[in-house]
Amino acid sequence: MNAILKKAPPPSFDGMHEAFARQQAAFAADMNPSHAVRLERLDRLLAMTERIAPALEAAVSADFGHRSGHVTRLADVMMVTAAIKHARRRLKSWMKVRRAPTALAFRPGSNRIAPQPLGVVGVVSPWNYPYQLAMGPAVAAIAAGNRVMIKPSELTPRVAGLMRQAVAESFATEELTVITGGTEVGTAFVSMPFDHLLFTGSTAVGRQVALAAAANLTPVTLELGGKSPAILGPQVDMAQAASRLVMGKLFNAGQTCIAPDYVAVQRQAVDAFVQAMRREVERQYPAIAANPDYTAIVSERHLARLRVLLDDARKLGALIVPLHPEGIDAAGGTRKLGPALVLNATDGMKIMQEEIFGPLLPVMAYDTVDDVISYVNRHDRPLALYWFGTCSGDRDKVLARTISGGVTINDCMWHFGQEELPFGGVGASGMGAYHGEYGFRTFSKHKPVFHQSALSGTRLLQPPYGRTFDIM
Ligand code: NAD
Repeated sequence: MNAILKKAPPPSFDGMHEAFARQQAAFAADMNPSHAVRLERLDRLLAMTERIAPALEAAVSADFGHRSGHVTRLADVMMVTAAIKHARRRLKSWMKVRRAPTALAFRPGSNRIAPQPLGVVGVVSPWNYPYQLAMGPAVAAIAAGNRVMIKPSELTPRVAGLMRQAVAESFATEELTVITGGTEVGTAFVSMPFDHLLFTGSTAVGRQVALAAAANLTPVTLELGGKSPAILGPQVDMAQAASRLVMGKLFNAGQTCIAPDYVAVQRQAVDAFVQAMRREVERQYPAIAANPDYTAIVSERHLARLRVLLDDARKLGALIVPLHPEGIDAAGGTRKLGPALVLNATDGMKIMQEEIFGPLLPVMAYDTVDDVISYVNRHDRPLALYWFGTCSGDRDKVLARTISGGVTINDCMWHFGQEELPFGGVGASGMGAYHGEYGFRTFSKHKPVFHQSALSGTRLLQPPYGRTFDIM
């Protein structure tokens, strides 16, 4: 049966509803796949990922106009293989039915919590890490015993096609399937009555997805974007902070949901910060145009958007400081944009209002750490927050008085790579979380089960009540 299903062509947009119905039927026929079945599916996904890794590197790079192979290997391939290996190791423990305490009045009855798959899970993913953000959630949903449908971004069409083909070769449609297409496909996709939807993308589209899901009362996990601040405390190792900020900001040319989006620097330290950032950019990227490590902007539209942000900031009095001798328009004829700081950034500028998603970093000079905290709290809750500094008092104040999806101290982005930490936004940057066990939990129903005992005393609570209450 499986062999016949595997030979079926991958479903097109037209086949989307049929694939959904097949997944629902398959789930109904096996509602709680065994540990062995789940492991085997994870193994197949691992083998598939390793098999297509070289093709994936080429496809991502072609879709981006150029993307560093190291970035794809690290952020798309290794993040997924690490998630699979972690899930394989921990799955048995995650699947355990756990005892919960039982109140004295209900003993010798006993409580248990049984994780159970939800059914058919939908995953809608963006273009910036097109494999990881499609397959990472799928790993968690498969580990939790679900059937999974993925709708990847149309902005990385080669990657989407590769995933669709590879998945169709490795999985039955009933297990895991990829539906390709643009907004209209996305809209139809999220209107299906999934048992859970995980959407990764912009806050604006996330809102529409939540509305569509509400019609079916489909629970959603929304992994959205926003403006993640990096705060350099008054006592900071400037060279070290700059080296880590450059790594975090220029990885994938800033096209990362948790890239530092603006940096708050003590007013008197701004000059030293600019010098340190220049030195670091040149150290990490000796060249821009001819450098295979430096990634291009994904499309002309996105490049034009970044230029508008720069023009708007310049018109409103910002000073644009290129961080590399090759300048900002580093490579004519390509979509590579050189890195730049935007000094004197103010709230009225688009660059301080919109998520940047590129190698531009506005600098906000501050007088006190309290001023920065109040700035952060006057804006949407960020997906990530970065604190650099050696003063634990200031650090703890920032941690206690700001709310963000996640935090890395004295570096950026690395909280994302921790399989033992939940990853997800808060407020405008998202809801819910996944990664590691948190992903397993997101895609499971934790069913509370009370086992009554033959010796139960609850008979005392049966009517007629007059007598019962006399006893009590
Ligand atoms: P996007 O919101 O434009 O698109 C994301 C996906 O949604 C695509 O597959 C798209 O086809 C689909 N889509 C578009 N309109 C839809 C609709 N009406 N209904 C259903 N689906 C629809 O986002 P993008 O430009 O691909 O990605 C960039 C954004 O993603 C940034 O805001 C970034 O911060 C965010 N992001 C967040 C995370 C995270 O983990 N929180 C990770 C990566 C990117």
